[in-house]
Amino acid sequence: MARTSFAWWTVAAIVTLMTPVFAADKLPTVVVLATGGTIAGAAGSDVQAAYTSGQVGVDQLLAAVPQAKKLATLRGEQIANIGSQDMNDEVWLKLARRVNELAAMADVDGIVITHGTDTIEETGYFLNLVVKSKKPVVLTAAMRPSTALSADGPLNFFNAVAVAANKDAAGRGVLVVVNDWIHGASSLTKTSTTAVQTFLSPLRGLVGTVAYGEAEFYRGPVGKNTVDSEFSLDGVTALPRVDIVMAHENMDGVLINAAAAAGARGIIVAGVGNGNMTETALNALRQLAKKGVVVVRSTRVLTGRVGRNVEVKDDELSFVASLDLNPQKARVLLRMALTKTSDLKQIQRYFEEY
Ligand code: ASP
Repeated sequence: MARTSFAWWTVAAIVTLMTPVFAADKLPTVVVLATGGTIAGAAGSDVQAAYTSGQVGVDQLLAAVPQAKKLATLRGEQIANIGSQDMNDEVWLKLARRVNELAAMADVDGIVITHGTDTIEETGYFLNLVVKSKKPVVLTAAMRPSTALSADGPLNFFNAVAVAANKDAAGRGVLVVVNDWIHGASSLTKTSTTAVQTFLSPLRGLVGTVAYGEAEFYRGPVGKNTVDSEFSLDGVTALPRVDIVMAHENMDGVLINAAAAAGARGIIVAGVGNGNMTETALNALRQLAKKGVVVVRSTRVLTGRVGRNVEVKDDELSFVASLDLNPQKARVLLRMALTKTSDLKQIQRYFEEY
């Protein structure tokens, strides 16, 4: 059971009571949608590695960072309270629909989503494809639970609110703010299991930086997103199954065929190097591609593009190359692609444009 007496929110709640009332009607309105994660996690002590995600509710989260009320009028909604390792389609559809509803409201200027770091890159990219608004949508997270010594959640949350309330953040696609960096949802990836500086945007670079609420923007979005995206959740009640299989020495076709047998309409290969794999695996995928399973080659390597027809003959095998997208993001794009088409040329075009 969490020992919460020294939690940062306890101290911060006292500060809230002492915070003077600001001219709230002049501030932008930011809605906070909480989904759980370590930012809402609690441990038995402030120096304990073991903890449980999703213990703190959205009201406690808001009360914990009273300084954010100087940046925006805040209201919170609890969408879920889970570790993001448990993120699932039900929460995704609920979250995306709520973001679209809120973003369409004239009195909402921006949206912050609190999330776990494990799958934030997938949720962010999914929203980047299906949110229909230019208003800032900013995900944030923490590597240390709220009870930890030097918890990183409060400042990440403060910075996320600052970015969501910033007019210059509009039209840059869905953003992720963690540890002073502003990432594009299509580019960031988690690179450390424990370090606070876990997120990098290896190929596409940072959208900007934010220090104590002061944001600097360096670039616009890379790839189609939000209002320019061809994807939508209108009429979508379920997303197609797409599995990821990782390549390695002596790889065979067992897991590939198991994915197809489980009903996967697409398979992403986290290939070695430039999306490579053994001849045995290639042959298993060749057979599935002939039956209409969409095969996308990505890479298990942290950075670098997977190009078409480099060592693997994509044209001959009817494969798609993931280009800039890592396996987890390629899976998100392929799932959305399969809601519209199974035409390989069109799917390859999506990988070029998103
Ligand atoms: N397992 C946690 C989660 O993704 C890790 C974190 O939030 O940092 O919810």
